[in-house]
Amino acid sequence: MVKETKYYDILGVPPTASESDLKKAYRKMALKYHPDKNPGEEAEEKFKEISQAYEVLADAKKREVYDRGGEEAIKGGGSGSGMDFHSPMDIFDMFFGGGGGGGRRQQGPRRGKDVVHQLKINLEDMYNGATRKLALQKNVICSKCEGRGGKEGAVTKCTNCRGTGMQVRVQQLGPGMVQQIQSMCHECRGEGECIDPKLRCKTCVGQKIVKERKILEVHIDKGMKDGQQIRFSGEGDQEPGLEPGDIVIVLDEKEHPQFHRRGTDLITHKELQLVEALCGFQKTIKTLDGRSLVITCLPGEVVADRAIKCVMGEGMPVYRDPFEKGRLIVQFNVKFPDKIDPAKIATLETCLPPREEEIIPDGSEHVTLLAYDPSEDRGRGGLHRRGEAYDSDDDQPGGQRVQCASH
Ligand SMILES: [Zn+2]
Ligand SMILES: [Zn+2]
Repeated sequence: MVKETKYYDILGVPPTASESDLKKAYRKMALKYHPDKNPGEEAEEKFKEISQAYEVLADAKKREVYDRGGEEAIKGGGSGSGMDFHSPMDIFDMFFGGGGGGGRRQQGPRRGKDVVHQLKINLEDMYNGATRKLALQKNVICSKCEGRGGKEGAVTKCTNCRGTGMQVRVQQLGPGMVQQIQSMCHECRGEGECIDPKLRCKTCVGQKIVKERKILEVHIDKGMKDGQQIRFSGEGDQEPGLEPGDIVIVLDEKEHPQFHRRGTDLITHKELQLVEALCGFQKTIKTLDGRSLVITCLPGEVVADRAIKCVMGEGMPVYRDPFEKGRLIVQFNVKFPDKIDPAKIATLETCLPPREEEIIPDGSEHVTLLAYDPSEDRGRGGLHRRGEAYDSDDDQPGGQRVQCASH
């Protein structure tokens, strides 16, 4: 039991979330609320919350502290021993392996930051491989003025700040007390240089950069998976004096109506009528590359409700070794009839294993069995909490290992 769920709620996951669930949740939320894509204070605050929640929950030790004592325990509860959070951008860059002036600064010239885009891909494309075109806007150095902002000689050092971009103002606070206030130079808006308006480049209006539409071809290799990154080196925004960063495409696997992926295994559900479960069946499964597979259960073999079977080599291809494939796992759900004609019961009984005799003691009470409604539990002496009666269903052997999207 966790003390509070705030951090989990921020990321939209249950407190039982695994490490990979947390990663996935952070990835989606951080890309959605990244300030580059959502200017404004609200998104910025949200981005910070997401980052703090992830920073705590992604660390097993901090997560334990949080689970036990909540946010108060993490922040130190006024004792001053609270953790220091990283900046949301640092967390983001660490997560996406970005170089936004962070890790790689020492090795070369200053780099612009990486631009991260999410690309929704369906499971078929990850199975078969595909090429997707992605159109995006990026900043490129103005080719007309070669990034100077004006004709040659038009750019001069700002006289107001002598090229520093900063302005220092001295304020008298009292006798013998002065305060130096540093602020951005308003003449050059912190650029440190001025461009003669008459000689300013018309293409970029002195901005040195222009927006350009760029089409990227993204190759999805067989077996690529959710969250995988494809990096386009040096394709990030250009800025004078900076080496451009990368464009990073993060794959976002769409839910598939029929298959759920777990590693290289594909999981699917099949509903069986009771007659099929007892008397054998043939069923077809359409694969992600459009083939039809036939699965057979011979008469005499019984398939229990929730039985799990698998077909080798019909799962997802292994990334970079696509002839190797995982398993296709089939979970059966047996549909029982609602009613049976009482006149046929005797015949039916002859086909089934005999009943075990039930001894009913003298004085037993006869009670009525009703359909169970989990929402109807208020004030019944705490017999069950909501949903609890179903929890034990997962305890059957093998039943809890396969987790699928609800069907
Ligand atoms: Zn220009
Ligand atoms: Zn200036």
